[in-house]
Amino acid sequence: MLSSFWSGFLKFAEKEQQKSPIIFSILKQLKPIEMTQEKVIVSCENNGVRLYLEKKIPLIEDLVSTYLEKKITLELIVEEKKRKKEEPLFQFEPNKSDLALRAGLLNRYNFTNFAVSSTNQVAFAAAQAVARNPGTSYNPLFLYGGVGVGKTHLAQAIGREILEKNPQMKVFFCPGDQFLNELVEAIKEHTTNRFRKKYRQLNGMVVDDIQFIAGKQSVQEEFFHTFNAVVSSGGQVILTSDRPPHEIGNLEDRLRSRFSGGLIVDVQPPEFELRTAIVLIKAREKNIEIDIEAAKIIAEQVGDARALEGALLSTYAKIVGKKERIDLEAVELFFQEKTRRTTRRVSTHDVIRIVCSFYNIKQTHIKSANRAEEIVLPRQIIMYLLRQELKLKFEEIAYHLKRKDHTTIMHGVEKINRLIIKDPLLKQEIDGITKTIISST
Ligand code: ADP
Ligand code: MG
Repeated sequence: MLSSFWSGFLKFAEKEQQKSPIIFSILKQLKPIEMTQEKVIVSCENNGVRLYLEKKIPLIEDLVSTYLEKKITLELIVEEKKRKKEEPLFQFEPNKSDLALRAGLLNRYNFTNFAVSSTNQVAFAAAQAVARNPGTSYNPLFLYGGVGVGKTHLAQAIGREILEKNPQMKVFFCPGDQFLNELVEAIKEHTTNRFRKKYRQLNGMVVDDIQFIAGKQSVQEEFFHTFNAVVSSGGQVILTSDRPPHEIGNLEDRLRSRFSGGLIVDVQPPEFELRTAIVLIKAREKNIEIDIEAAKIIAEQVGDARALEGALLSTYAKIVGKKERIDLEAVELFFQEKTRRTTRRVSTHDVIRIVCSFYNIKQTHIKSANRAEEIVLPRQIIMYLLRQELKLKFEEIAYHLKRKDHTTIMHGVEKINRLIIKDPLLKQEIDGITKTIISST
């Protein structure tokens, strides 16, 4: 009765978890002890957890009350795990995802959903080698590369794999800036002992973006000792950075030499095929259906791996409720609108102004009925540029240039299109004007 109530409640809480994901992960660590008409008693493993949870009790009470549709109070007690095997009401082994969460690892990063190609295969192989034999092969493993090349993904995947193979190992993934803040705080609050205890006993320490510690003497000092402590007790260190150790400025020499003492691997920006694969992986993870041709367009248009996911989601947002899957048409539409949005930062007025000053004519002439040749050509060039660069509709251009009919605009744009093929000098002029327009923003 008690255990079925609790498992039913957990299912309910899981559905509600979008509202409070943290609460759900905490709930899974509690054990139901007793239940009366108005009260539920649950236990947790130690005082630390209890202190942390006490602030959340009202939230959990709300959730239980909603589930049982009556007001319930919650009591939290500490009950240390008994070693004696007794019939458990409910199995409460910390599961793998709890362990990972505590190690600072996110579910979305693992080796399986990491696509490999020539730009990252060495890094991938090294990462796997380290994950399989932590502390024995390359120590530290130092991964470096630009933004969005997959360093964090790989570093997280290593941490996860080590932990999955050795759940007893203490693994911790720490962003470099967090390490820095934590340490600065510890020094200020005189709690460096606690800090040391936390880091020096690790079997697997991942510090992402280690370049953040450069330039801060006390932090580098502490990190040096942390590093030595972890490595000398057989632990594995994994570091990532935006550049190789010898290019990190203001880094102590002894750290630089430690960083270079294992294996240094660079990760190159993903090329087109890899970006396509990443789009497909992200789509599958999010249950978004996408045609491969459409994925290719996204990969072609978006060079930065971090922006791929955003482009995928934005395209998806456009088709939701209208289409089942992202097809070629959907992405093309998305990117057309996107260019329009970005190029719109250049105004119609800018184009008119720049063309007029280039041909040394008055702006008022452009919008007048003047058919003199020295006015007609610049006017048509403006039509062409408004269409080509600002992606305005013919009607919009007609409106801006005070032409009665949009067919006039179509003819104008057509004429320039023909002329630039025949007349390289004119093409050069127009290219020059375009550059001026773009750099004017
Ligand atoms: P970095 O830390 O190098 O800046 P990230 O690891 O944060 O880059 O990667 C940016 C995004 O691109 C993440 O969503 C990541 O999952 C994804 N990504 C990068 N490389 C790959 C890859 N080879 N396979 C799958 N996803 C990747
Ligand atoms: Mg990163």
